[in-house]
Amino acid sequence: MSNRPYIVGNWKMHGTRAMLAEARAIDRAAERLLKVEVALAPPFTLIHATRKEAELIGIGAQDVHPADGGAHTGDISAAMVKDAGASFTIVGHSERRADHKETNALVKEKAVSALAAGMSVIVCVGETEEERDAGKAEAVVGRQLTGSLPTGDGVAEKITVAYEPVWAIGTGRTPTVDDIGAMHRHIREKLESIYGEAGASVRILYGGSVKPDNAAELLAADEVGGALVGGASLTAESFLGIIIAA
Ligand code: PGA
Repeated sequence: MSNRPYIVGNWKMHGTRAMLAEARAIDRAAERLLKVEVALAPPFTLIHATRKEAELIGIGAQDVHPADGGAHTGDISAAMVKDAGASFTIVGHSERRADHKETNALVKEKAVSALAAGMSVIVCVGETEEERDAGKAEAVVGRQLTGSLPTGDGVAEKITVAYEPVWAIGTGRTPTVDDIGAMHRHIREKLESIYGEAGASVRILYGGSVKPDNAAELLAADEVGGALVGGASLTAESFLGIIIAA
């Protein structure tokens, strides 16, 4: 793992080729911001074009199907996104867990498939507001980690965890810095129990309403190794504001 903060933009279901200019602008600026590791996860349809536009930043997918290939109409495998130019994939985003009823077991299968294709993986976890209010946030996130993370030799080096409280995504609301620090310490303990020593260097990103004006504060929380950014990654101006803050 590198010690540089890792700032990943998740474009979700946004972007046609008109948005490639944003990727180009981010990439050009990233050259001057070598203290930060920057990546973008555009929609599948833009992976190849974004890879061609951007030379320096990492390019990833937002999801993969767990199977290598076969009769799965409309789905995309890890080998396909890798062939298109992705070096990593996000799996287990809460929008996929909610919209597509993805379970921890399925998220793990997807992660295993991406690793087998030679990619690294960002595994997302995070509690709902009801779960937080009921005092169950750490237990929920702990179960998600145990259930979703692939294990085995050399796996920890390929894994990044993104903690994204569901109630903070796209809402403009964020946990306090103390709450983020407490959850990230909990995640670190879990990672060490799952991966042993290697768990100490897995990067843990925070995600959920990260903006240029709150990024410095959120990124300073305990055990936060970077950010997974949705809405504010859609323009070079706001995404670069976060990268500069990091
Ligand atoms: P947001 O989304 O930054 O728009 O809150 C974050 C995410 O879902 O990754």
